[in-house]
Amino acid sequence: MALTGLEIFKLLPKKNCKECGQPTCLAFAMALASAKTTLEKCPYVSEEAKETLGGAAAPPIRLVSVGTGDKKRDMGDEVVLFRHDKAFYHPACIAVEIPDTLKGADLDARIARVSGLGMERVGQKVNIDLAAVSNQSGNALDFAECAARVDAASGLAMVLISSDPVAMGMALDRCAASKPLIYAATEANADAMTELAKKYGCPLAVKGNGLESTALLAEKIGATCKELVLDLGTEDLSQLLAELTQVRRLAIKKKFRPFGYPVMTFARGETEMDQIVDASAKMSKYASLIVTSVNDRAMLLPLMAWRMNLYTDPQKPSQVEPGVYAVGAAGPNSPVFVTTNFSLTYYTVEGEISATRIPAYIIACPTDGTSVLTAWAAGKFTGDKIAEFLKSCGVEEKVTHRNLVIPGYVAVLKGALEEKSGWKILVGPQEASGLSSYMKSNFL
Ligand code: SF4
Repeated sequence: MALTGLEIFKLLPKKNCKECGQPTCLAFAMALASAKTTLEKCPYVSEEAKETLGGAAAPPIRLVSVGTGDKKRDMGDEVVLFRHDKAFYHPACIAVEIPDTLKGADLDARIARVSGLGMERVGQKVNIDLAAVSNQSGNALDFAECAARVDAASGLAMVLISSDPVAMGMALDRCAASKPLIYAATEANADAMTELAKKYGCPLAVKGNGLESTALLAEKIGATCKELVLDLGTEDLSQLLAELTQVRRLAIKKKFRPFGYPVMTFARGETEMDQIVDASAKMSKYASLIVTSVNDRAMLLPLMAWRMNLYTDPQKPSQVEPGVYAVGAAGPNSPVFVTTNFSLTYYTVEGEISATRIPAYIIACPTDGTSVLTAWAAGKFTGDKIAEFLKSCGVEEKVTHRNLVIPGYVAVLKGALEEKSGWKILVGPQEASGLSSYMKSNFL
């Protein structure tokens, strides 16, 4: 359990030297109790006190890393229940399953498919994070060989899924240097799996059967093995969502250490779509790692898009740099469109224009990353502001005409903008989806 500020204060050296950045030891104790500072900031804490305080000062949910180098993925280290309280920091990892029943060319084709599931959305690269090698064959050698092949060829960190410590040991002999996640220690194999995790220095998943058994197992294994990921083992979705919420609440609000680890789960469902819907619900309720057998890029995109939304800082709208952007080989006669610098708006417009293959310029006006109507209502996307940006952004040197297409939702700006800028204003469609037919009618 967490220590109070006064309990922490009793263990501090009480020199009031301010070297920790706090005016007194008591202030430091209070800051430590509310996770606003770290124990290392005081150079005078005794070793005994460190031992006691270390647990109190640790983050409520431990940071666990899987993989190494470019493949490394971090999970956990979250400090709030709701993202509007602060933000979520480590996006949930998505792992796609590769069964060890695949061999030769079929295995290579699956590895290539899983490795190529990444794509670009609103200017950001999104991808899955891990390959989940599963011991479906039940054969230890097949499992080890499949894991080694995936490790060498996939460019992804791995989860190794087997309940057999012998198979797990053989796989780790081949690829432990890549720091895969071992899945999983259960009541039946806890000692053997814990020994493997310690021997190879790899993170270990702990699979229980509901809240109580997971807590007991995590407490036992956590005494010697620090990097754990929890699987509550509950299959029913509504029960699991309730349990995932309890785990998060107990870890963050009560600092209940057995639940102070990232939580993983599996996407379930009869169809691929069912799995993605199931995974989205679990991701929304704090799963830090979701394993799925879906390996279709179009199916995974909604899950990755949902993850982007959940892990975007709600206090910082995502925005593109204000400026003039060429779409295709835009030249002096290309049409010019104006919109705001809200990423989602800009990239939706850019995608629609790009699909027409008609070269054009888009001006992204500085509106602090707000959408067209929000910016207009806030006085950030007005005739004056757009006219001012038209003069400073450099578009007048790029095109010889003076025709500007504005979003249909702000047609009301036409008169004022024409007057302020001297440009001829054309009113485009309200929705970006109307740009294709608008451009074909006006600019082909
Ligand atoms: S550095 Fe340590 S001893 Fe000095 S004021 Fe801070 S907590 Fe107290």
